[in-house]
Amino acid sequence: MKNSLELVPISASLIELRQTINDQYQKIAERAKYKDPRQFEVHFILGQEKGPADILIDFLKDDLEDFLKCSKVKIYRVTDRIPPMDYAALSSFKHKGKFQDTKFEVQLKIYKIDQFKCIRCHKYLSEEENEICRNCQSYLPKSDHSHRLTAN
Ligand SMILES: [Zn+2]
Repeated sequence: MKNSLELVPISASLIELRQTINDQYQKIAERAKYKDPRQFEVHFILGQEKGPADILIDFLKDDLEDFLKCSKVKIYRVTDRIPPMDYAALSSFKHKGKFQDTKFEVQLKIYKIDQFKCIRCHKYLSEEENEICRNCQSYLPKSDHSHRLTAN
């Protein structure tokens, strides 16, 4: 009886969510040759109403990619006009979780990213091979910026 009244804390709820996603990474690694989750982008398709999944995502904010060890995360709602992807999802699944005293369900899709590994952050966000991604370009001194822009 006591257990049923215990509230699931945000940390436990996030770890469960990550576990579901990690299991899918594992399945993809087994049947395809993609073993590095940084090659993936993860899409969340949230329900029409805001719910526990929104709280979890808002809590992580910009750290979502690092938390999930992927390079890109996109958040949609079921009611959004979701832009079509060039490739079929590697995996499409549901996470059934619990946060505090509320059960929730969130739909997820994993896609392969068709970009190159950034030599600085190692995320697959670079437009060209052996280059740095746009995010990392902001860490460059200004002189290097202009050099790179005029080089194209
Ligand atoms: Zn980078």
